[in-house]
Formats: sequence, C-alpha cells, structure tokens
Amino acid sequence: MVKPLLKKWLLPALTSQPVTAVARRLLPPAIPVFMLHRTADNRVVESDNYTQHLRRCLGHLRAHNYYLLSLQQLIQAYPDLRQLPAKSVVFTMDDGYADQAEVIAPVFAEFDCPLTFFVITGLLDQTLWPWDAQVSWLFEQTNPETMQSTPAVRQLGITERSSLDRTRLRRAVVTAMKSLPMNQLDATIQQLAEAAQLELPPTPPPAYRAMHWDDARKLEQQGIRFAPHSVSHRILSNMDTASMQHQVSESWRVLKSHLQSPLKLFCYPNGRASDFGEREISFLKNNGYLGAVSTTADQVRRRPHTPDAMYRIPRLPLPADFSNFVRYCSWVENARGLLS
Ligand SMILES: [Zn+2]
Repeated sequence: MVKPLLKKWLLPALTSQPVTAVARRLLPPAIPVFMLHRTADNRVVESDNYTQHLRRCLGHLRAHNYYLLSLQQLIQAYPDLRQLPAKSVVFTMDDGYADQAEVIAPVFAEFDCPLTFFVITGLLDQTLWPWDAQVSWLFEQTNPETMQSTPAVRQLGITERSSLDRTRLRRAVVTAMKSLPMNQLDATIQQLAEAAQLELPPTPPPAYRAMHWDDARKLEQQGIRFAPHSVSHRILSNMDTASMQHQVSESWRVLKSHLQSPLKLFCYPNGRASDFGEREISFLKNNGYLGAVSTTADQVRRRPHTPDAMYRIPRLPLPADFSNFVRYCSWVENARGLLS
C-alpha cells in the first residue's frame, strides 16, 4: 500500500526540480556507479525489453541534465569528489559475453554515454568460460533432484532437508562454491559434471557465447573504454599470491595487446568485500593501476576518503525497475544512505 503511493506521488514530488535544487545544495554529493551484466537471458524478447529499459534510463538522465561521467573521470577526482558536478552518474559493465557487445554496449554509444567495460580476457580469447557460468549451465541441463542428491552438493552444506527449485539450488551452490580454494573448486565442478552425466565443453555453449576481440575493437572506436576483469573470473582472495598476480597482470597484458587505449583499472571477480583485500590492493597500487571496482552496493560518497578508497569503489546493480533507477540517481537515495 505504502510503496505504490510512494512511487506514484512522493517520489515525483521529491525528485521535482525545486525540491532537488534545495536538497542538492544541502547534501554532500553522492554518485551512483552502476554495473550491468547480461541481458536477462538470451531470448530476443528479453533482450528487446532490456534495451528498451536501458534507453528509458539513459533518456531520463539526458532529459534531466545529468552529467554522464566516465569511471576514469571519477577516479581522477579522488580524494576530493566535491569538484565533480552534483548530478553525476557512472556506468560500468562486467564480463564480455556476446549479448553485452551486440545488445547493451551499442545503446551507450547511441546516447554518447561513457561506459567502462571490464572483460574476462580468457573469455574473449575463446580459451575458457567462467566457472560460475559452467555451474549454471550444468544446472540448466539437469533435473534439480539429481543435482541435490549428489555428494558434491551435500558437501557444500546444502542438504536434502531444504528442497530447492532449480534456480534457488543453483544460486545456493554457486554461493557456497565462492568460498572454496581454487583446487577444490575444480574438483567440485568435475563432480557436478559427473553427477549430471555431462562433459563440460572447453569453450562456452551458445547460451554463454563470448564476444570477440574484433567486437571489442569496434566498440572501442565508438567510444566504449575497456579494462581488465581477470583472466578466468576466479575469486582472487581464494588464490595463492603468484596466481592472483598472474590474473591481474596477464589480463592487462592481453587487453593491451588487442586494444588501442585500455584503461589501467581493475574489476575484482565477484567483487564482494571478502573477494579481495590488502594483498590485492597493494599489488594494484604498486603496479600502477589507477583504481578498482567492487560489487559493494553503495553510492560513492563524499565522506573523507582513505588513500585506498579508489581501489574499493562501490557499485549498484542497474535496477530492473525504472522508478528505482530514478530514485538511485536522485538526492533521495543519497539522503537515505546518510541516515542508514
Ligand atoms: Zn564478473
């Protein structure tokens, strides 16, 4: 009852020009950095809906004179973000699947909106596909009961007591697997494949098709900027130091060898606070990376920033609901964050 009323009356009133002008003067600036992943799935209808939604969001920002800031501009402004325009919004996209290059990135070019695209270099090299996509694929091919009763799933602490549907089971398995050290992760994927009686293809099946470096070069000419998101998408904090360093350095080396002007910024695979730490940040800083993004859900605020703040940049998933998007870009969300 309250929520529809809020959406219908209160939000338009709070985001109206006069209220916004006063609020922005009183509140310290906060900037949403949005992160996009794939279109909802690979069906054309869904992709159409996705681009319609994205056009509506970008159209709203253009119509209301938002400043479409690049991630690089944001990072260059640290530690004093007061120099940035109050109504700034930043967009990023992660991974490097074909639908992202073919469907999503061109919309940003159409709106002349800066986009930083973090890509998994092994995916674009067509030499691997991410482990979490492999697990999702196995679950899509197999009956959930079969998967739930396998020892590998039970070892992850997911018991038959909590009978889950396919999607929830897959999510529970992927989440539990995020804590596994690298060698155990491989063994568990193998066990899941055996339980499903499937052989994992070495390169992505059609539903997980990767983009190619040619696509990246074309998008780069249209103004999209690229940056590394590791070689394999494995969680850095679960690796030994040499492997972590390889994931960071090799993805940058490959990106540089294929593109004109990649950005030396980094996107932590998975990106939760537990997926990277001091070790990763020191390595990035000592090797000349200008900053890094996480998946901690918050706006970038003007609180006093520590020297490491640009290596822990929080991001918000692009809301599927248009009114939530409007709220995230407005001063309302900023005020909510200050009060919470
Ligand atoms: Zn990712």
